[in-house]
Amino acid sequence: MRRIVGFFFLLLSTSLMAQPHVRPDALPPAPLKMPKSLDMASTVDQMLQWQSYPTYEAYLSLMEHYRDQYPSLCHIDTIGRSVEGRLILALVLDGGASAGKPSMLYSASIHGDEVVPYYLLLRLCDTLLNSYGRVPELTDLVDGVSITINPLANPDGTYHGGNHSVSGAWRYNANGVDLNRNYPDPFGSIALDTLQPENRQFIDYIAQRDFVLSATLHGGAEVLNYPWDSFTSREREVEQASWWKQVCARFIHRGRQHDASFMTEVSSTGYIAGGDWYVIHNGRQDYMNYYHDIRELTMEVSTTKLSASSLLDAKWGSMAPSLIGYIGEALSINSLSASDTGLSGPADDARVFPNPTRGTVYVSTPHATRVINLHHLPAGVYMVEVDGALRRVVKL
Ligand SMILES: [Zn+2]
Repeated sequence: MRRIVGFFFLLLSTSLMAQPHVRPDALPPAPLKMPKSLDMASTVDQMLQWQSYPTYEAYLSLMEHYRDQYPSLCHIDTIGRSVEGRLILALVLDGGASAGKPSMLYSASIHGDEVVPYYLLLRLCDTLLNSYGRVPELTDLVDGVSITINPLANPDGTYHGGNHSVSGAWRYNANGVDLNRNYPDPFGSIALDTLQPENRQFIDYIAQRDFVLSATLHGGAEVLNYPWDSFTSREREVEQASWWKQVCARFIHRGRQHDASFMTEVSSTGYIAGGDWYVIHNGRQDYMNYYHDIRELTMEVSTTKLSASSLLDAKWGSMAPSLIGYIGEALSINSLSASDTGLSGPADDARVFPNPTRGTVYVSTPHATRVINLHHLPAGVYMVEVDGALRRVVKL
């Protein structure tokens, strides 16, 4: 046995010694072959062939490329910087004006080694921008919804092995913290001074925006995971469970029109209440839903976290109709501020609905489900009137 090990070692050594020395800056600009078939694009032109993952520099260049190519359609928001100083960016597709439109957010790869979603969201940016003015449905979508796309929430995790490759990606940020276990938990707690810089800046960012809908994309399984993550649905069902099930069913239906096995790994329906799959605490989904009244869905989009680059194009083909369709769900949520709703109170003799989320109530009218923001009202009992009719009574 010892002799065999020595034999292989000798072969390896000989092979390494036979390699010519090549200066890094003398390498041709062709995609670099990496282990596990993780081809890397080091330029925008290479990336736009959609056969590889971007280097960190190619990612930055690609975002700038979109901003420069489509200045009337999009701009870049800098959400912040990672522990190691990498940029956390979002591409905002709002045609230069968000007013009057519902805003939705896509965010990917908070777990740095779940890199397929990173690719998918970059390609989503590309498809939406390229299709504007050419494909009527996508043009209407971009005109009707302010779309913010954060392709890489944890750049230090994805480029843990260096900016030139995702082959060394890991789950955590540079401090070794799982960012999806580091948000304030609505039903638990986390000390604010333990919030990681990536999450603190993300919280600051969304507090300045008015998102009504969101999704965070992961890899490692294929299933949609709606709130709550902190509880099973028997313990505490999310107030909008029926809405979530409809939204998830539409997402799955779009995918299964082309592939009957689309997202069947965890659940035959393709979706599940988070805690019914497995309970986690301090995740981003519950934080967004509970504290910000943003309906955020967790999308597990790939059974393999670090998928071979040769599989990416087909993955996009299967996911695109569903990812695009989900954006339109923002149009089914009409936001009204408290001042728009004709709130009045108190109403001691009316039936009172406790409002455990404190922030909003959801009111169904014949035309739509409306979200009414109650954030800044003092404690009391309020009647919620919509379109001149009493819809709900809430106790804050
Ligand atoms: Zn994940």
